[in-house]
Amino acid sequence: FLPHLVAAMEEVEETYIMVKPDGVQRGLVGEIISRFEKKGFLLKGLKLFQCPKELAEEHYKDLKGKPFFPKLIDYVTSGPVVCMAWEGVGVVASARKLIGATNPLQAEPGTIRGDLAVQMGRNVVHGSDSPENGKREIALWFKEGELCSWVPIQAPWLRE
Ligand code: GDP
Ligand code: MG
Repeated sequence: FLPHLVAAMEEVEETYIMVKPDGVQRGLVGEIISRFEKKGFLLKGLKLFQCPKELAEEHYKDLKGKPFFPKLIDYVTSGPVVCMAWEGVGVVASARKLIGATNPLQAEPGTIRGDLAVQMGRNVVHGSDSPENGKREIALWFKEGELCSWVPIQAPWLRE
């Protein structure tokens, strides 16, 4: 009887989390990773990466046409980002809760944006908004071989 096999029968999701260039510049990488790690989600991929313009535009293609789109692309390509793939039951919605509202001034204290940011154009972190986008974004930002499937030793202490 292996808890991780039971978990596999539930709705295991993946989400793409990214520390944006302001989070990297401000030395918040460890703090941000730590929040997902402590929550108990499974880290499957992690890298520091300079995002090319084309990838940023593809990632944010749904926002093309918004007045802030050019600034958003400049922002996300302005320095290295930290790309992460996290797995877990309910990880997509839970990660969005941990991240907080898009506008950091409206984000609840205790959330990443609520605690660590003040402006929408400098909101330190990205998280996928649906399981479908989680898959799409992980495929976009990671190559095969950059992701690991593994069972952490704490698995039985996270799920009954
Ligand atoms: P998210 O899913 O909470 O990151 O928000 P969205 O998907 O709606 O937008 C993507 C990113 O675009 C946000 O995280 C912000 O960095 C940026 N953004 C969204 N709306 C605005 C806006 O009205 N002004 C500015 N400057 N940036 C915005
Ligand atoms: Mg979004």
